[in-house]
Amino acid sequence: AHLARIEAVDGKVGAFLHVDREGALAQARAVDERRERGEALGPLAGVPLALKDIFTTEGVPTTCGSKILEGWLPPYDATLTKRLRDAGVVVLGKTNMDEFAMGSSTENSAYGPTANPWDLTRIPGGSGGGSSAALAAYEAPLAIGTDTGGSIRQPAAMTGTVGVKPTYGAVSRYGMVAFSSSLDQGGPCARTVLDAALLHEAIAGHDPLDSTSIDRPVPPVVEAARDGDVRGMRIGVVREFAGEGYQAGVMQRFGEAVDLLRELGAEVTEVSCPSFDKALAAYYLIAPSEASSNLARFDAMRYGLRVGDDATRSAEEVTALTREAGFGAEVKRRIMLGTYALSSGYYDAYYGSAQKVRTLITRDFERAFAEVDVLVSPTSPTTAFPLGERTDDPLAMYLADLCTIPANLAGNAAMSLPCGLAPEDGLPVGLQVIAPALADDRLYRVGAAVE
Ligand code: GLN
Repeated sequence: AHLARIEAVDGKVGAFLHVDREGALAQARAVDERRERGEALGPLAGVPLALKDIFTTEGVPTTCGSKILEGWLPPYDATLTKRLRDAGVVVLGKTNMDEFAMGSSTENSAYGPTANPWDLTRIPGGSGGGSSAALAAYEAPLAIGTDTGGSIRQPAAMTGTVGVKPTYGAVSRYGMVAFSSSLDQGGPCARTVLDAALLHEAIAGHDPLDSTSIDRPVPPVVEAARDGDVRGMRIGVVREFAGEGYQAGVMQRFGEAVDLLRELGAEVTEVSCPSFDKALAAYYLIAPSEASSNLARFDAMRYGLRVGDDATRSAEEVTALTREAGFGAEVKRRIMLGTYALSSGYYDAYYGSAQKVRTLITRDFERAFAEVDVLVSPTSPTTAFPLGERTDDPLAMYLADLCTIPANLAGNAAMSLPCGLAPEDGLPVGLQVIAPALADDRLYRVGAAVE
């Protein structure tokens, strides 16, 4: 049914880069056979899923939305892919994304944009717009995203779906193409909080193949999502995430969600995080710096595209020609920004300062979490904007992640869930919930209460 739905609507939505029809049907049959043999099956066995094209899938194309990886067939599965398969999840295919997850609208994909199913003239958010659009268009009931600065939560907000960035290190990064390794985190996307929790439990857990993987039990997220009791919970509204640039309808629906939490018995207070206004600037030094190093591996020798290899040119020339042809404008911008910020003489002024700001933001969170159990804010200052509106203005594009970036810099857990439609445009608004590291279950408790 989901393959038929994809066939019917994906021409308009453009959520998928690759549909693995044969692989999906084979996996579904394998689950059926296990059932017939009377084997115990997990809660997600046979459930279809849309996988962001940043996770390696053995023998199935993995492009990261880039021309430089066109035609590459990974020789191995990411740990996350493997866990999904072991859980009996049916991977329908790979979803569209901003090239190397750099963007907030999915317009930076080398394979064309994805449309927002709520209004096909608008962006679905990014970088994981394909995964979130697939959920909103009923092409898949579950999806996977990655969140470096908001790429799970912001598209969830724009498409009226649920997206969770688990605590940094909770979900293995092995086989997840690296963008900014100290920020990148894979996580679940779904249409309900409970579905997200079930998927969270399936993909989280220690992995010796990822040196930053957390070796601790996964928090009881499913239990929390089934419970949803927020009585006596202390909830802090982030004071800094309001004011100029925030759409009226977004603030209205956010305020109503906060009122609902109060009615359900939570204690709501306002909390100040004074360093959050510097988060965006710090992020756009740290993320490009790490990216400039991570993307050095695309050298025309190891993966995918190779341009100008005709025996007259040196390896350096082939590398340069391939990177020139294979990377898009935003990726080149980030590589240049990052290389500059890391260069000797500028390192302390840029990368060093950004790391200090990162520490200040972490301290803001520590102070806040001494007083409250979770923080809440809108996920994004506005609802989905029209396709093309911000493509020529990188700074305007970067502002879409104003509220999501602090949680990445500090490594906290955070969720976006729908909290109604903005009255002025009828588009979905996201409520962001942020919890301390390793307290991911609190997100699901609050999410289940509001949903
Ligand atoms: N939009 C942000 C960026 O462009 C975040 C991306 C992400 O979370 N992958 O870097």
